[in-house]
Amino acid sequence: MPMTQKIYYDSAYIREWHTHITNRLTKADGVYVTLAETAFYPHGGGQSCDLGQIGGIAVLDVNLEDGEVWHKLEHSPEQDEVQCELDWERRFDHMQHHTGQHLLSAVTLKLTDAMTVSVHLGTDYATIDVAAEMLSAEQLADIEQEVNRQIVRNAPVRTSWVTAEEAARLPLVKPPTVTEDIRIVEIEGVEYNACGGTHVAATGEIGIIKLLKTEKVKAATRIYFKCGTRALNEFTAIQHVLNGVTTKLKTNRDELLERIEKMEQEQKLLHSELNVVKATNDAYYAQELLSAREGLVIAQVFENKSLKDMQSLATKLTAEHEGLVLFASISEAKVVLAQNGQPSEWACGPFFKGNLAAYQGKGGGSETMAQAGFASSEDALAFYEFTRAQLGDHS
Ligand SMILES: [Zn+2]
Repeated sequence: MPMTQKIYYDSAYIREWHTHITNRLTKADGVYVTLAETAFYPHGGGQSCDLGQIGGIAVLDVNLEDGEVWHKLEHSPEQDEVQCELDWERRFDHMQHHTGQHLLSAVTLKLTDAMTVSVHLGTDYATIDVAAEMLSAEQLADIEQEVNRQIVRNAPVRTSWVTAEEAARLPLVKPPTVTEDIRIVEIEGVEYNACGGTHVAATGEIGIIKLLKTEKVKAATRIYFKCGTRALNEFTAIQHVLNGVTTKLKTNRDELLERIEKMEQEQKLLHSELNVVKATNDAYYAQELLSAREGLVIAQVFENKSLKDMQSLATKLTAEHEGLVLFASISEAKVVLAQNGQPSEWACGPFFKGNLAAYQGKGGGSETMAQAGFASSEDALAFYEFTRAQLGDHS
């Protein structure tokens, strides 16, 4: 059986063709077929595989095994004669990113001397790792501008097959990984690169490149980028968020940062004002609780009070009150128990530790102050009532 003819090497623009199935294989994970001719590019060289249809049946995966291209299908086609079609949007996106990656790597090398050491061209994201500890914002801006200049130049991208001797005479970026039938991708005026991927015919088809961010990966710098339609979609998504935020904050893009800084200051001011009001309110409320107390226990349930506020009020009370303070907050599902540190049989933390499990509570604390959180306000209230009854027995 002759090997599949890889017509993606004849032209990256073949997206529909007629051929026949040459082999079928059923494996545990699905049905696999080979074709007399295929334009389905398999995974390889950092590029993701093509998808599409064979005889109207969806192609799920394309892999290269011992030089043969295997297409994984949803199910086996009835006929051997099949019409094939690529998911062109996906393939063209891969072409834009693969040629874009070659340009980006070439320009980064030229401007910063940093060689590309690894490439990822996924449908999810595209990156190159370059051998540089870091790149400055200025360097990145220069690289982005130069790549876009090369895109506008609309330089032809040519592919050819050469022997090892011919390859040795070319100024290749890296030595080829194969020793015969070496495929060269040339971006006119930029570089010669040994590469098996699918590329656009001229750099103008990349449309645009946008560098998104960098991160440090060991001794290399990873550059995230988007080309063409994907870059446009990124722009649309950012614009959508920006419009939402500026509308919400009743401002425009230029004044957005200023607006947020102003809000932060207002927030700070409100916070300090609120703390003053809270302290006054606590002092007043503490007096009320103290004068209304009966026996050794001050117990109170709050509809809506934070743990921090309950703790601060409890501290105020135990400074003036010989007995115990028990608080619960319904909104927070939390309980606080405090005492003033006088010798007492009531050690708050150990009491919580010993009894919380029965109420699905989690917490603990010191001899003088304990706090616990609960899965629901019902559990918190049940624990509050239980503790109150226990304290009542001992007061
Ligand atoms: Zn390549």
